[in-house]
Amino acid sequence: MMTKVQSDIDFEKDGQQFSFLKIPHSRNSSAWGNQLIPIVVFKNGTGPTILLSGGVHGDEYEGPVALSKLVRGLRPEMIQGRVIVLPALNFPAHAAGTRLSPVDGRDLNRSFPGRRDGGITEIIAHYVDQVVFPFCDVVLDFHSGGYSLDFLPAVVMHELENAGQMGATRDALLAFGAPCGHVLFEVDGGGTLDFAAEQSGKIFLSTELRGGGRVDPLGVEVAENGIRNILRHFQIADLQAESEGGWNAKRTERLFRIPSALNFVHAGEAGLFEGDLVLGASVAEGRSVGRTHFLGNLQRAPEELVAKCTGTLICKRAPGRVEPGDCVAVIGI
Ligand code: CA
Repeated sequence: MMTKVQSDIDFEKDGQQFSFLKIPHSRNSSAWGNQLIPIVVFKNGTGPTILLSGGVHGDEYEGPVALSKLVRGLRPEMIQGRVIVLPALNFPAHAAGTRLSPVDGRDLNRSFPGRRDGGITEIIAHYVDQVVFPFCDVVLDFHSGGYSLDFLPAVVMHELENAGQMGATRDALLAFGAPCGHVLFEVDGGGTLDFAAEQSGKIFLSTELRGGGRVDPLGVEVAENGIRNILRHFQIADLQAESEGGWNAKRTERLFRIPSALNFVHAGEAGLFEGDLVLGASVAEGRSVGRTHFLGNLQRAPEELVAKCTGTLICKRAPGRVEPGDCVAVIGI
């Protein structure tokens, strides 16, 4: 068997299938138990295949909520091609509300291409890489800031070496219709779903949609609008918004580059971070993006944390407590 994942999904069958991926998981509370990961497949005739995934990190909620709304409203006759939805891909982490899996402590987005005989998280990665990706032309993987970060809602792509793949991905980024579009130079893409999808030639997009441990309503709207726009862009479906209100841009509005480590600001010491700039604020190189207070030493002045480039604040830390090395701000240029 190519994979340890058991599934009754037939990817070649027309119609809609709601099911689960089953991964054997023997544990104290469940002798012959499985981990169940929800999957929905819609197929109608021939056409492109898109994978819509979310919950790679279990504390990122906006994409999974938008995908759960999509699968309840979509019908096979509305599409031409195939839509594979994995809304909570690292389901054990999703159920625990944690970034990493509580089963094996792993980050699914550092576990690709995975291993057939690895831990649960590696088995999930291996299934996506070996079984799902070969069907796909387009992969759209929804991320958010999770517990620790808060982002201006954005669609995200990487700088790619292949000019054709880069151009087609950039067209899709613009068609997504988010408030922001980020072109990210990935310093270390090894082990990510992103890198695995790009390496196998897919058009790959990700997102960052608010976060801070919430289900942010604007983040959900941007995700829903992006799904409609991307399905239209690839001529898979022409869906209408359920209501007139909400975010419904047809093009991504502001483009930012995040080319290097200079775009990130990190905490120096442990304490309470007071980030007093709002998302979207202009930041000048050398200007403070906030400060760390030391409540254990009241005579000590706060440590100002300073931007290393000039641009726009696109992401900031959500919780107050910081440890050395925590990301507190990202500046897009
Ligand atoms: Ca993430």
